[in-house]
Amino acid sequence: MRKTLFFCLTICLQCIPIQHVSAQKNPKNVIFLIGDGMGLSQIYAGMVANGNKLNLERCTYSGFSKTYSANNFTTDSGAGGTALACGVKTNNGMIGMSSDSVAVQSILELASQNKLATGIVVACAVTHATPASYVAHQVNRNMYEEIAADYLKTDIDVFIGGGRKYFEDRTDGRNLTSELKAKNYQIAYKLDSVKAIKSGKLVGLLYDDQNPNMPERGNMLPEATESAINMLHDNTKGFFLMVEGSQIDWACHDNNSVQVIKEMLDFDETIGKALDFAKKDGNTLVVITADHETGGMAIIDGKFGSDQMKAVFTTKGHSGIPVPVFAFGPGAENFSGFMENVSFKSKLEKLLKLKK
Ligand code: MG
Ligand code: ZN
Repeated sequence: MRKTLFFCLTICLQCIPIQHVSAQKNPKNVIFLIGDGMGLSQIYAGMVANGNKLNLERCTYSGFSKTYSANNFTTDSGAGGTALACGVKTNNGMIGMSSDSVAVQSILELASQNKLATGIVVACAVTHATPASYVAHQVNRNMYEEIAADYLKTDIDVFIGGGRKYFEDRTDGRNLTSELKAKNYQIAYKLDSVKAIKSGKLVGLLYDDQNPNMPERGNMLPEATESAINMLHDNTKGFFLMVEGSQIDWACHDNNSVQVIKEMLDFDETIGKALDFAKKDGNTLVVITADHETGGMAIIDGKFGSDQMKAVFTTKGHSGIPVPVFAFGPGAENFSGFMENVSFKSKLEKLLKLKK
């Protein structure tokens, strides 16, 4: 008995140092969260109003992403999304292609080609610039019907947001929902239906056009994200999920700090869902960043626990400053210091060991 115990202890003690020097772990899954228009002031506005805390703070690494586009010091969400998704600087307004109009494969498309499960969950129409950058290839972000049709050309497993009319009420007479059903997608028009579907392929078109803002949208973003994670997690090869807090940007265009806080806290709740899963799972990398900052927002004064703060906006548009990056999980150390917005695709490609 005593001999056996001694033997076990010897083995175990020998194992411990080996584990410590073993090769760095690669993630199996990636959850990439984009806060559209989310700079440091937007994050801090949410943090102050929330009593000096955010889920975001659970991330172990942080850095900055340089957001300028190919033709502009200040990017729009088309070029910004394309940089994050496809790893190329393009002209403002373009989706999923280089500045000379050549389509570039996105990290989501590459992951799908490598048999990972893929998904998109957004707080706007799924045809809007940021999600579009992950599935579509169009010269102009306003080509919503063309962008909707591009979803049919992918093998994406789950996508949830608004924009139903671009699938069903089209100038070309196609009904993309019927075409999606023929490709074995289950269609959900309500959040409850999304939550009831536990496996297979899913399209959630929850609003005719854009999703309403907070609080009218309710728990759409965090709950749809949780549903998507649970569905994609079934895939043995891993998954790539992009989630967007789409309307931080819109509140900043309106220079409305109270609304910025509402959208920021909704996005942070969603981040919490991703981090909870990643912590439990142990094989999931969570990366959080923005496509650009909006409003040139500064916070002059405030009170912890209150959404009443002295915030100043210097523009109704976007600003050109770098945006924060946060990461948690295996591979998180690759997202510290200053980086270009075009570096995310190659970093994730390597970490997920995707083959072209
Ligand atoms: Mg966006
Ligand atoms: Zn914007």
